[in-house]
Amino acid sequence: MIWKIACALIAVILLSALGVLAFHRLGGGAPARPIAVAFPHPALGPDQACDPAPAFADAAARNAASLTSAPWSVFGRLEAGWETYAPLTTREIASACPPSAEGFAAALAAWQASQHLPAAGVMDEPTLQALRQVWLRRRPFVAATAHGVCPPPPPPDQLAVLRPEEAYGPQPIQLGVNVLVAYRALVAAARADSSAIRADRRLLTIFSGYRDPTVDAIRCAAAGDCGTITRANCSAHRTGTAIDIYLGEAPGLRPDSSADPNRLFQSRSPAYRWMVANADRFGFVNYPFEPWHWEWVGARP
Ligand SMILES: [Zn+2]
Repeated sequence: MIWKIACALIAVILLSALGVLAFHRLGGGAPARPIAVAFPHPALGPDQACDPAPAFADAAARNAASLTSAPWSVFGRLEAGWETYAPLTTREIASACPPSAEGFAAALAAWQASQHLPAAGVMDEPTLQALRQVWLRRRPFVAATAHGVCPPPPPPDQLAVLRPEEAYGPQPIQLGVNVLVAYRALVAAARADSSAIRADRRLLTIFSGYRDPTVDAIRCAAAGDCGTITRANCSAHRTGTAIDIYLGEAPGLRPDSSADPNRLFQSRSPAYRWMVANADRFGFVNYPFEPWHWEWVGARP
């Protein structure tokens, strides 16, 4: 077990260093463009023992409790628990174990150590905040806007229209040409891999892609919802690299509802789990507060 934790720790440190390098390549307010992004990969195989780590038994029990009840506001809004972020967290810390397992706590401890956090293996608000920062840094759009730059929309000849069967609704949707190529490869792989995704042709179809900034501004003004957690003044959708994909919806809610029950429902879905495990192979990263929102950051090296 110790050598497994040590291997995971070394891998996380190396990958963190690569992530910092990738982030700094974005400096100076550079516009969003394809970049090489370092992604972690599970260092532990499916044979990983999830429970025989008694040193982490208490941490595992605390994680099981906080999963559905912790009153944290890491994403700008008070939430009950962190289960919505469990799939991304599990991937990030390279664990194959559920959040209530001792093996998960052991992997979390290794990740916390790599981030210079108290390495108790207990999920807490600073740890989730640190995870959020790691996830945000993978999005060139966030790096650009952090430097005060709202990326311009692409020229019209760099946009392509989806096929009708690729869109969730009847409205025509545009995406960046390279983004559409990557998206099509992703969907083909998802349907080949997952019987659940194959069984419902609506899954992973796109309900929003490129959005004209002018139209977006009119829309948020009309809704009285500009510059908020749910409607940004400068949306990533203006770049033609962002996609909102259909992952199903909680009963009575819309596929893009940011209500907590809907986000939790989607985070538990096979389609989202597949995306978390595989989308980076096609250059897509998630905005964790919205399971349906993914951004293309370029082909993986
Ligand atoms: Zn979106």
